[in-house]
Amino acid sequence: MLDDARTVGVTGFLLPAVKLDDSELLLDLCRRHADVWCALGVHPHAASTWKDGDTLRLRSLLDEPGVVAVGECGLDFFYDHSPRETQLRVMLEQWDLAWESGLPVIVHNRDSNSEMLAATRRPENRVLKGVFHSFAGGLEMATELLGRGFYLGLSGMVTFPKADNVREVLPTLPQERLLLETDTPYLAPVPHRGEKNQPAFVVETAQRIAAEWELSLGQLSEITTANFFRLFERART
Ligand SMILES: [Zn+2]
Repeated sequence: MLDDARTVGVTGFLLPAVKLDDSELLLDLCRRHADVWCALGVHPHAASTWKDGDTLRLRSLLDEPGVVAVGECGLDFFYDHSPRETQLRVMLEQWDLAWESGLPVIVHNRDSNSEMLAATRRPENRVLKGVFHSFAGGLEMATELLGRGFYLGLSGMVTFPKADNVREVLPTLPQERLLLETDTPYLAPVPHRGEKNQPAFVVETAQRIAAEWELSLGQLSEITTANFFRLFERART
């Protein structure tokens, strides 16, 4: 899959964890490929697996080569696979680790806008930087997050015929705050809907955004590549 993506021009891959037990697998991929980096953390679905000692475990894992971010972490009140108070506690625990380590976060947010905004407004989170991935939170949410310095990650959803709620942020989204993503294996863009998503398909997402912004694919790629290395600073070394 990496080779298929490289063939169509994808030059870097950031693989986020969903649980701490993914860490070894991801670190191994980072060791074997110079263009692969990872984020380590615990997805809100798995928040209830968080146990005593995991803060220390994650803190030491963040020093491993190839780790450039903390995540996925966040809130998902659509599926509620973990109790909401647990999701919030585990997310904040990871945010604290992220800013202590100087790393950005990859945030998952679904049906939890008001709790998420309240969390970002906490004074201790002023220094937090990161990306809201596969953003579909609406214009108001986007405006506040951008005001706080966050990036927005757009996925294949931006190509869905009915996803006006995703495309509506494009006119106000500064070019220097956009990141491209697949959310593989989910959310395959048009014309691959119904297929298992893969990194090569990020090109269709890029093409759609380039068209909306009246840019060439090359121009958009330059912008999002620069954005990637600005946010995920550690990937530069
Ligand atoms: Zn997610």
